[in-house]
This record gives sequence, structure tokens and C-alpha cells, in this order.
Amino acid sequence: MKHTRTDQVNDTDHEAHDIVIVGGGMVGLSLACMLSKALPQLSITLLDAHPVADQQRLYQSSFDARSTALSSASIDIYKTLGIWSAPGDSPAIATHATPIKTVHVSDRGHLGQVSYEDTENAGAALGYVVENSWLGACLSKATASYPRLTILAPAQVDDIRVVPGGAKLSVATEKGHSALSARLVIIADGAGSKLGAKLGIGVETHSYRQSAVIANVEFDVPHNCVAYERFTAQGPLAMLPLGEGPNARRAALVWTWPEGDVDAVKGWDDRMFLARLQRSFGYRLGNLTRVSKRVVYPLSLMLAREQVRSSLVLVGNAAHFLHPVAGQGFNLALRDCAKLTAVLASADTNAASLGSISTLSKYADGQRFDQQATIAMSHGFTRVFSSDNPVNQAVRNLGLVGLGVCAPAKTVFFNQMMGRSAIVG
Ligand SMILES: Cc1cc2nc3c(=O)[nH]c(=O)nc-3n(C[C@H](O)[C@H](O)[C@H](O)COP(=O)(O)OP(=O)(O)OC[C@H]3O[C@@H](n4cnc5c(N)ncnc54)[C@H](O)[C@@H]3O)c2cc1C
Repeated sequence: MKHTRTDQVNDTDHEAHDIVIVGGGMVGLSLACMLSKALPQLSITLLDAHPVADQQRLYQSSFDARSTALSSASIDIYKTLGIWSAPGDSPAIATHATPIKTVHVSDRGHLGQVSYEDTENAGAALGYVVENSWLGACLSKATASYPRLTILAPAQVDDIRVVPGGAKLSVATEKGHSALSARLVIIADGAGSKLGAKLGIGVETHSYRQSAVIANVEFDVPHNCVAYERFTAQGPLAMLPLGEGPNARRAALVWTWPEGDVDAVKGWDDRMFLARLQRSFGYRLGNLTRVSKRVVYPLSLMLAREQVRSSLVLVGNAAHFLHPVAGQGFNLALRDCAKLTAVLASADTNAASLGSISTLSKYADGQRFDQQATIAMSHGFTRVFSSDNPVNQAVRNLGLVGLGVCAPAKTVFFNQMMGRSAIVG
């Protein structure tokens, strides 16, 4: 059906697009695929400041050494896109995704511990762990299957200006400066969005005064697809299983440290790092034998004060940046993207303006409860589980012991831990 557009930007000196996404990290790239599938008739362009690595379009941007625990809702989104498992030789996320069959939570030096098994979840995996680099490769490859999706990289967006019917962007590429216009601009430029700040969008920030130390670790006992979450005096420590089978002896470590200690941790050589980790984690995985290069991420809660404006939407870390301990940030961002896609598809069907504030408010209003509940849970969880305050320790231990005997509470707790919202699976 051909629609009469009320929101066309009329300007001949700008290359005109329906939707421009700024930022090709995990969120921007996933959203580009979701929108292209739902709205194949629209011209969608994604720009990223980082160069593409090769013909496979392997981005270097946010697809670093980290791994992500995907919830069942996130997996359903990738199944709908046809990239969870794909026919033939196409890269499919599931090929290198590790099922989480058990989650084991414990508190170092205390009795409280509890575990949750896939048998308590009707035999279904509790989530899947995917290395970000593999997720990036699959997403990058998937973008090629959408004829009206264009990827421009390296292309740095320097400025966005809202005009009647849309927005104009100035873009710096290797060939020089150019200008684009779009009916809707989606900003996915990462935590503390610089483009959002340029537009005068404020950010509420709460520093956790902690950093996450990320590395991959090897050990001499197979992990059996168990994800470990352990609370230590320094802060929470997670070990996410990587690989399957009797020889799977590798895990993705997220180890939280107070910001004052992190320089010392960075200075440790491999031997010292493994010895200290062994002391904190214990011997559930036998001897820890190897550790990769460490990468450090300072942690804070950052919430954009506005997520929608006429012709503009902020998504992903640009909208909300959460502590990684509860594994919520990316799973929430994907649910946001699914909602935004549904709202824009409905607007297009009804010949409504994609960028009007009435369309975009439907997205913001529709996701508000999920965002607020998830952010509150993640923040509360982080505070209780990052503290060596005796009251918080007691709450933690009573909580862990209590969860062991109360099946419904345990299910709610682990659903949240696995990045599943209170409302969506
Ligand atoms: C240690 C750690 C572990 C985590 N584990 C989990 C987990 O297990 N489960 C979970 O759900 N979440 C997890 N998260 C959260 C998850 O990593 C984030 O939700 C996700 O990375 C957000 O991606 P993004 O695309 O919004 O931002 P980014 O990854 O920061 O991408 C932003 C992109 O925008 C580009 N860009 C920036 N400015 C411009 C510009 N001006 N012009 C053009 N391009 C630009 C950048 O090059 C970059 O590619 C974790 C986070 C951390 C830190």
C-alpha cells in the first residue's frame, strides 16, 4: 500500500532516508535487523564511527572480549529474525551459544547458597551465553539480507538537528563531510550518549564506585553448563560457562572491584590474578589454570532524562546503562527494540508519522513499566549483593537460605537473574 507521508523532510542537498540509526553496537545492529524485517519498504541506514573489519562486516565497536547472557525473550527475538539457528553455512548465534543448565549462587565465607536447575524450568535452558564477538559476526552478516538496509562505516555523526518532518545529520567519513536527513533518527551511541548531550538531553548518573574486571578463564574441571554467581567482600563475581561437552573448561569472568582497588588488580600478572581469583571463587571448577587479557569497565547507573523527542529516540546504553551483575542491560534493550519496532510498524500501516511525538510516546509509554521494574531490580540487587555491610550480608544469607526452601520466590529471583523481566519471559 502506498501512503501519503506527512513527515517527509524536503531538502535536496541532503541524502534522504526514512530511518537513520546512529551506532552499530549490539543494540543498533539488532534494531537495524528488526526494523528491516518488519518494515522492508523503508530505507534504513545505520552509521558507526568504527571501521568495518572486512567483507564479513565484522565490527570492532562494541563486540569485544565480553560475553552476554541472553534471556529466553532475547532468544525469541533472534529466532524471529532467523539468526538464532540458520540453514546451511550461514552463521547462527546458536552454533556457539552455551546453554545455562544450572545457576549457582553463593556468598563467600557464609552458609547461604542456592542453585536453580533447568529441570525446575520444564527442562529448558535458563538462558544462553554468547561471546559478543560471535553475536557481532552473526548480526553483521544478517544485515546483508535486507536490500533497503545500508551500513555506513566508518562514519561519525557530529551533529543532529531536528527540523520540521524529521532531522538532519552531519556525518564525517573518510571521504569528508556529508549530510543526511531522516524522518526518524534513532540514537544508539552508547552509555552517556554524546549526541544526546549535544541535543541537551540530560543524564541521571549514580556511580557504583566499582569497576568490572572482564576476562576469560580456563580450569581443569568441566563446567557442566553451570553459571556461578558468588558474592565476595570486594563485590559480586560471575563465571558464565563457555562451550559444551566433557572438555568445556572455559568461562567468562565478570569480577566487580571497588574503584580504589582496581589499579592494583590491573597490575597483577596472570599467576597473581589466578591465585586471587581462586581464593575468592574456591574450587568448584578445580584449579584455575589460565586467564586472558583483562579489560576493565567502570560501572554506574546512567539514565537519559528523555528517551523520545519529535523525530528522535534513544535506545540501548544511550537510554539506560545498568550494572552488569544482574545481566539485564542488553536483554532490556532488546525488549525496548521489539516494542519500538511494533509501534513503528503499526504507525506505518496506519499512514501515521514515524517521528511524531504521538507515535514515539506510544513506545515510551509502552516500555516504561518494563524499564522501571528492570532498572529498580538491577539497582537493588547490585546494592544488596555488592556490600560487606553486616546487615546486607545477613539479608543476603537469609535470602539465599529462604530461596532454597521457597520454590515460587526462587523462580522469581532466578528469572530476574537470567535477565528475564518480571513481565516478559
Ligand atoms: C562487563 C559487562 C557485561 C555485560 N553483560 C551483560 C549480560 O550478560 N546480559 C545483558 O543483558 N547485558 C549485559 N551487559 C550490557 C550490554 O553490554 C549493553 O547493554 C550493550 O553493550 C549495549 O550496547 P549499545 O549498542 O547500546 O552500546 P555500545 O556497545 O556502546 O555501542 C555504541 C556504538 O555507537 C557507536 N558510536 C558512538 N558515537 C557515535 C557517533 N557519534 N557516530 C557514529 N557512531 C557512534 C560506537 O562506535 C559503538 O559501536 C554487560 C555490560 C558490561 C559492561
